[in-house]
Amino acid sequence: MTKDNFYLTTPIYYANSTPHIGHAYSTIAADILARYHRVTGNGKAHFLTGTDEHGQKIADAAQQAGKAPKEFCDEIVERWKMEWKSLDISYDQFLRTTDQYHEQAVQQIFFRLREQGDIVPGTYEGWYCRNDETFWPESKLVDGHCPNPECGRPVEWVSEDAWFFTLSKYRDRLIEHFNAHPDWVRPASAWNEMASLLRGGLEDLCVSRVGVTWGIPIPSEDKTIYVWFDAICNYITAAGYPENMDRFHRLWPADVQLIGKEILRFHTILWPAILMALKLPLPKLVVANGWITMEGQKMSKSLGNVIRPAELLETFPLDAVRYVLFAQAPFGADFSFSEETMLRRYNAELANDLGNLVQRVLAMLARYRDGVVTARSSGDELNAEFDETARAVRDALDAVDYRAALQAIWERVGGLNLYVEQAKPWQLNKDANNALLDETLYNLCEGLRWIAALVYPFMPHTGAAIWNALGQAGVPGDRWEDTLHWGQLDPGTKTTLPPSLFPRVEHQPSAV
Ligand SMILES: [Zn+2]
Repeated sequence: MTKDNFYLTTPIYYANSTPHIGHAYSTIAADILARYHRVTGNGKAHFLTGTDEHGQKIADAAQQAGKAPKEFCDEIVERWKMEWKSLDISYDQFLRTTDQYHEQAVQQIFFRLREQGDIVPGTYEGWYCRNDETFWPESKLVDGHCPNPECGRPVEWVSEDAWFFTLSKYRDRLIEHFNAHPDWVRPASAWNEMASLLRGGLEDLCVSRVGVTWGIPIPSEDKTIYVWFDAICNYITAAGYPENMDRFHRLWPADVQLIGKEILRFHTILWPAILMALKLPLPKLVVANGWITMEGQKMSKSLGNVIRPAELLETFPLDAVRYVLFAQAPFGADFSFSEETMLRRYNAELANDLGNLVQRVLAMLARYRDGVVTARSSGDELNAEFDETARAVRDALDAVDYRAALQAIWERVGGLNLYVEQAKPWQLNKDANNALLDETLYNLCEGLRWIAALVYPFMPHTGAAIWNALGQAGVPGDRWEDTLHWGQLDPGTKTTLPPSLFPRVEHQPSAV
C-alpha cells in the first residue's frame, strides 16, 4: 500500500471545557486545507481531529461535576462535535483517546518501545504542574511556580518509580532533521525556538504515572501512561497503527499537522523522537498558529474576554467569521481581533466588494437577458488574470498561507468590480450594443464562477450560493484541474439571484 491521501490533523483538544475562538481558528484552518485538497488533489483528504480525555485535570473536573470521567467526557465531546457542525468543519475522523482502538494501540506502542529499550525503568523525582500535566526542571520554575505563562500555579514535588522514554538518545538525530529540513516547522520563529531548545540538551521523559488513575493502564502495574505520550500517539493510532498497516500506509506520514504554538515542544521534539524510535517517517510539516488577542490582550478566562464562536455567529454569517479570521494576519503570527475589525472587514470586503458584485451582475443578467448566460467570450486579459490567480491561490495554500490566498482572490473581486464600472453594461444596454453587452455579461458571470470555486474552501456556503446561482451543480470547482478553465460556463445556462450573502449588520455586535 502506498500513500494516496492528503493527511492533515488538528491538535486533539483537552476535554475539560468547550471550544473558544482559538480552538475554532485551528480547526477552521484545517477545514480550509481539507476542502482545498479535496477539490484540487485526487479528492482524497483525510482530516483528523478529536479530544484528549485522560489525565488528572479531567478526573478532577469530572469529580467537580459529580460525574464519572467517561460520562463527563461523553457530554463534553457532544458539545465539541456540535460546535464543529455549526462551524461547518468537514472532518473525516474524530478520535477520542478513550476509544478502545486508541487505548490498545498506545499500550502496544508502549510495550514495543519498552521491549526494544527505548522505554526504561527509573525513579522520577521532580517538580510537576498538575494543571499542565507537565514536569518542569527546577531551573525553569518562576519563583517556585509553573513557568507556563498561561498557568503560573504552584508545582508539586513528585517522587515515584517510573518508566522513561529515552528522549536524550534521539537528540543528535533530531538536530540532524532540523538542519536538513529548515522548513519542516513553521513559522520560522517556531523552528528557531525548537532548534535552540535542542541545542541546549534533552532529558529523558517520564512516561508513566503512579497517582493518576484516569489514564491508559500499564497492564500488571499500578501505573498509567503519561497523558501526553498517550495523546500524541493519536495521529498514528487514528491512521490504523499498528493493527491496520494497510490503512496506515495510505495515510502516514501526515502532510500537515496544525498545532498551537504552546504545544510546539511536544510536537516537534517528543513526537518525532517517538516516531524515530518506532522507525516511522516524520510528518512532512508542522505549522503552529499564533494566538488571537482581544484588543491587544491575550484571551483568558480570568480577564473574562474569551470569545465563543457561537456568540459571533449570533451577529455574523459563519462564512464571514471564517473569512475575517484568515484575512486578518499571516498564519503563525499573533493577531488582534475585535468587534470593530470584524464589522469593518465584513462591510467592506464581504458585503460591499463581494456581495454587491454578485447581486449586481446577476441582477443585470436577469434584467437584460432574462437570467440566461450569453454567448461565450474568450475573456482576453480576464482569462489570463484568473489563471494567474488560481496559480497564486494554489501556491499560497500549498504553503499554508491563508491570507495570501485571500488577497489573491480579492484582487480578482476588485478587478471584476472595476470591470463593471468601466464596461458600463447599463450603457451598453441603453445603446443596444448587444454584442458587447453579451460579451461583458459573459465575462462577469464566468469571473463569478471562478470566484465561487476559489472562495469555496474558505467560505463553503458563499461558494455554493454563487455556484448554484450560476446554475452549476455539485461542489464548487470540484476538481480545479477540470473546472478552472476559462469558458466552461455554458451559454444558455439559466441563472437565479442568490439569497443575500452578507446581510447588513445594523447594530454594533455586543457579544463580540
Ligand atoms: Zn502549570
